[in-house]
Amino acid sequence: MKIAIVGGGVTGLVAGYRLLQKGHQVTIFEKSEQVGGLLAGFKINGTNLEKAYHHIFTTDTAIINLIEELGLADKLQWYSDKTAIYYDHKMYSFNGPKDLLVFRALPLLDRIRTGLVGLWLQRDNAWEKYKAIPAYLWMKKSNGKNAYNVIWEPLLRGKFHEYYDQVSMAWLWARIHTRSNSSGKLGYIDGGFQIIIGALVEKIENLGGEIKTKTLVKDIKVLTTQYDKVLTTGPIKNISYLGAIEVIFTSKQSLSSYYWHNINDLKSPFLVFIQHTNLVGIKNYKGEHIYYMGSYVPNTHHLFKDSEDQVKKEFFGYLKKLFPKFNKKLVTQSFVFKLANAQHIVTTNYQIPKYETEYKNIYQVNFSQIFPEDRGTNFAVREGEKIANFLQG
Ligand SMILES: Cc1cc2nc3c(=O)[nH]c(=O)nc-3n(C[C@H](O)[C@H](O)[C@H](O)COP(=O)(O)OP(=O)(O)OC[C@H]3O[C@@H](n4cnc5c(N)ncnc54)[C@H](O)[C@@H]3O)c2cc1C
Repeated sequence: MKIAIVGGGVTGLVAGYRLLQKGHQVTIFEKSEQVGGLLAGFKINGTNLEKAYHHIFTTDTAIINLIEELGLADKLQWYSDKTAIYYDHKMYSFNGPKDLLVFRALPLLDRIRTGLVGLWLQRDNAWEKYKAIPAYLWMKKSNGKNAYNVIWEPLLRGKFHEYYDQVSMAWLWARIHTRSNSSGKLGYIDGGFQIIIGALVEKIENLGGEIKTKTLVKDIKVLTTQYDKVLTTGPIKNISYLGAIEVIFTSKQSLSSYYWHNINDLKSPFLVFIQHTNLVGIKNYKGEHIYYMGSYVPNTHHLFKDSEDQVKKEFFGYLKKLFPKFNKKLVTQSFVFKLANAQHIVTTNYQIPKYETEYKNIYQVNFSQIFPEDRGTNFAVREGEKIANFLQG
C-alpha cells in the first residue's frame, strides 16, 4: 500500500517505520521545520535538549524496547531524582513516605491520611470505577479538605485551569499508580531524546520512506486521491486540548538541590520548575545548569499571544520570589517555546476516539486515544506500533 502519514511526532515516525518494515510505501508530512513533535529538541551549549522537559520511567517498556532495537541502549541512563513541593513560600522535600511524614504544611493526621490514600491508589488495579468520578471530588473526599487544598487542588487547577473539575479520577489514578509502581529511577538519553528521533528518521529513509517537513496538510481528503490509506496524528475533533509554555534558561548559578519542583501556588505563571542538570549533570552543557519553567494553558491563553519578552518577564519575575538568590545577570541564554495542543483533557466518562474516521481510508491516531494512562513517549511508540498493525489488517 501507499500510505500517507500526517505528523512527524513520535507516533507518526514509529507508525511509518513499522509500516515500511511491513513492505508498504510511506510518506510523512510534517508542518514544522523539524520532526519530533512535542519531543523535538534544539541545540543548547552544543547538546540537544527537548523544548519540553522529558524523562521516562522504568515501566515504559515500549520505548525502552525501541531504544534497544535502534542500537541506543548504551545512551539510556537511569538517574535518581529529587522532587520538591513549593507551598506557602517554602520548598518541601517530597520524595516518598518519609518526606510526607514531616511535611509541615499539613497537620500530622492529614499527612498519614494522604499517605494511606497514595498507598491505596498504588495498590488498586481496578481503575474502571474511577472513570465517571471527577478527580477533584474523589481527592477531596479521600484525602480530606486540608490535603486537597494544599497538594491536589493547586496541581489540578494549575494543570487544567477552568477544566480542572471535569478531569476524570481515572486519569489521576493512572498518574499516581504508574509513578508509584515505577522503580523511582528516571531515564534520560545521554545527548537528548533527539537521538531517538534521528535514528528513526535514518531507519525510515533507509527503508525508502519519505519525510516532507515544512508541509502543512490543510485538506487530508485530497491525499486519498494519491494514497491508499491516510493516517493523521494531529489533534482529534471533539477533544479539548491545552497548550504548553516552556521558558528554558542556562546559568552557572545553581538554584536548588532538587530536580523537579511542583509549584503549588496559583499565582505562579508556571506549574513546574525543573533543574534538568540536577538529574543528568552539567557535563554535556559546558558546565552550565539548564532550567525549565513549564506551564499548561488553554491554547487561547494570553501567554500564547504575549511576546517572548513579556513571557520571560512574567516567569523570571516569579522565579525571583521562588529563589530570592536568583541572579538574572547570570542567565546566559533564555528561550520561550509555545506548544499548542500539548495535553488533552480526560473528562469524566472519557470516550476513546476510534482509529477509523467518518472518511473512507482516512484513519486517526493521537495521544488522546491513550487512556487511562497519561500520554507520553512510551505510549506514542505503543500507539504507532498498534496502528501500523491495524492498517496492515
Ligand atoms: C510539557 C510536556 C512534557 C512532557 N513530558 C514528557 C515526559 O517527561 N515523558 C514522556 O514520555 N512524555 C512526555 N510528554 C509527552 C510526549 O512528548 C508526547 O506524548 C509525545 O511526544 C506525543 O507524540 P505524538 O506523535 O503522538 O504527538 P505530537 O508530538 O503532537 O506530534 C504530532 C505532529 O503532527 C504535526 N502535525 C499536526 N497537524 C499537522 C498537519 N495538518 N500537517 C502536518 N503536520 C501536522 C505536528 O506538527 C506534530 O509534529 C510531554 C509533553 C509535554 C507537552
